[in-house]
Amino acid sequence: MKSYRKELWFTLPDRCGFVNITHAVQEALEESGIREGLCLVNAMHITASVFINDDESGLHHDYTSWLEKLAPHDPISLYSHNRTGEDNGDAHLKRQIMGCEVVVAITEGKLDFGPWEQIFYGEFDGRRKKRVLVKIIGE
Ligand code: ZN
Repeated sequence: MKSYRKELWFTLPDRCGFVNITHAVQEALEESGIREGLCLVNAMHITASVFINDDESGLHHDYTSWLEKLAPHDPISLYSHNRTGEDNGDAHLKRQIMGCEVVVAITEGKLDFGPWEQIFYGEFDGRRKKRVLVKIIGE
């Protein structure tokens, strides 16, 4: 069995945002040379997500407003977590609901997606360097 590991790095200019990382994961898969197996994509930070959904700007706008209703950033005092001196209590909750990782099957050297599936990095406490782990195993 072969295995391949790669980190993808991001610095988003805003507190929140979504990045389509499908192409970068496909590139990692090509580098791995693996034709059959599994690909794990994991946000290595507790205020960021990796998830699969449609690449559609209306949907991304809906995520933003839905998450802001569930866990508004302000007031900072809303969150016990922020008593530590941090201001990202909302970002931890947003990450929880959007998920931390995805696993995609690899078939004949390709990510074996359904028709509209794409992989996204979701940032909820940006403006600093953060990374995503891609781990591919198979043969
Ligand atoms: Zn925190």
